[in-house]
Amino acid sequence: MNSTPKCYNDLHFIFIPLMAPGHLLPMVDMAKLLARRKVKVTILTTPLNSIRFQSTIDREIQLGSQIQIVHIKFPSVESGIPEGCESVDTLPSMDLMSNFYIALCKMQNSLENVFEKLRPIPSCVISDKHISCVAEIAMKFKVPRIIFDGTNCFHLLCNHNLRNFNNIPNEGKFIVPGMPDQIELRKCQLPGLFNPGENKKLNGFREEVREIEEKYSYGVVVNSFEELEEKYVEEYKRVTGYKVWCVGPVSLSNNDELDKFERGKKLNSNDESQYDKILKWLDSWPSNSVIYVCLGSLNRATPQQLKEVGLGLEATKRPFIWVLRGAYGREEMEKWLYEEGFEGRVKNRGFLIKGWAPQVLILSHKAIGIFLTHCGWNSTLEGISCGVPLVTFPMFAEQFYNEKVVVQVVKNGVSVGAQSAVHLGEEEKCCVVVKRENVRDAIENVMGEGEEKEKIRGRARKYADMAREAIEEGGSSYRNMTLLIEDIMSSDRCTTIGGTTPYTTLMWHHK
Ligand code: UDP
Repeated sequence: MNSTPKCYNDLHFIFIPLMAPGHLLPMVDMAKLLARRKVKVTILTTPLNSIRFQSTIDREIQLGSQIQIVHIKFPSVESGIPEGCESVDTLPSMDLMSNFYIALCKMQNSLENVFEKLRPIPSCVISDKHISCVAEIAMKFKVPRIIFDGTNCFHLLCNHNLRNFNNIPNEGKFIVPGMPDQIELRKCQLPGLFNPGENKKLNGFREEVREIEEKYSYGVVVNSFEELEEKYVEEYKRVTGYKVWCVGPVSLSNNDELDKFERGKKLNSNDESQYDKILKWLDSWPSNSVIYVCLGSLNRATPQQLKEVGLGLEATKRPFIWVLRGAYGREEMEKWLYEEGFEGRVKNRGFLIKGWAPQVLILSHKAIGIFLTHCGWNSTLEGISCGVPLVTFPMFAEQFYNEKVVVQVVKNGVSVGAQSAVHLGEEEKCCVVVKRENVRDAIENVMGEGEEKEKIRGRARKYADMAREAIEEGGSSYRNMTLLIEDIMSSDRCTTIGGTTPYTTLMWHHK
């Protein structure tokens, strides 16, 4: 590329993802995109997490990218976490979440040791905001720290505005102040920061992360694209004064079928047959006819709730792929699926995946007509990028915000009607939040004939085109990545050539 300044080559970006699929996978995608722009990239993570993306990085290297993985030890045992659990989705219980935060803090020394040895000297570190100890490391090594939070500008703006708002009513709906559209929510739908769960220790960690995030960050990279939520990107930049780079949808970095299939997967010998089986099954259905259901990598929905979802799918009489996480309620679900007859009743049109599904591969198949999602931001954006209309079933964290993005901002989907968040680890308190009729009706509100349904599908297709354009050369996200690189190139000169630039000038400017 002619316009690439020569010193792109001298830049070295360090990525430190949080170890949870919804944070790790987009950061790996982003790292690949950045490395394709001829800068050097290092991803720092633990050995068990790297298994999930080693093969895609090897392919990038073969294609000429300068990208590497460097391992750090995860202090599991010393933090009270069983050995072998190095990511949130593998924790045997959500009660261990506070131990996980402790382990993140304990990573500071090993991270520092690695940092010391990295060559060329790092120009910038992009780290998940939850790994707060990176702030101190960045200060020590005089490197700008950019944060990532696996989310969108709608969410960031919502949180920013709610922090300065003391009037969230305990009951009933309220209008979130300062949003470009009229956004109504209930306190019980908000993330833990405003609607704390029972685990009080977690609330303390959240507060700490927030303080460090505000004080010690140079800017924020967002897995979104400007055309999707333009007003929210602008408003967020305006009210905070932060540097914000929307560089997504990063999952579109996976053009290769193998990259799509293997994304996030711990590989094993049966994979080839699984790949063939899924594609053959999908190929056997007409375009836009199949329902895809996946509630993300962390959900611990109760068997009672899952059965309602299953019965709702059965009631549609349509073909479906249903992803069931292996971790929770396995015995009860197995009994229901096989002994109580569900699997037999749907066997000609239902495809069950127990464990990890190749989501991006499935969503990009033309047979998929709808995606019932828990509204994790990655899943939501992957659905949008593939032009698939969504049925939204938010559960926890910021998922009710993301539902608003879908049904009110982008208007490419409908809600299943969940009314309040169920914090991770507290699912037993509220076994069933959505009934089978709600599942069936929401799906039928999008699939099949009808003017309104056609409009939803049309918008879904339009946003998918915009998403692809954003990431391609000349598109908004492509340009933002250029701006990010050039920004770091100039701050890099400040610190290496000038040598005296106080690090505080690299921080966000506070209003
Ligand atoms: N994912 C996947 N297969 C699965 C479950 C999840 O590929 O069986 C991927 C999904 O494509 C997304 C990420 O894992 O990229 C989940 O992130 P999201 O923000 O949607 O939800 P979370 O899992 O964090 O709740």
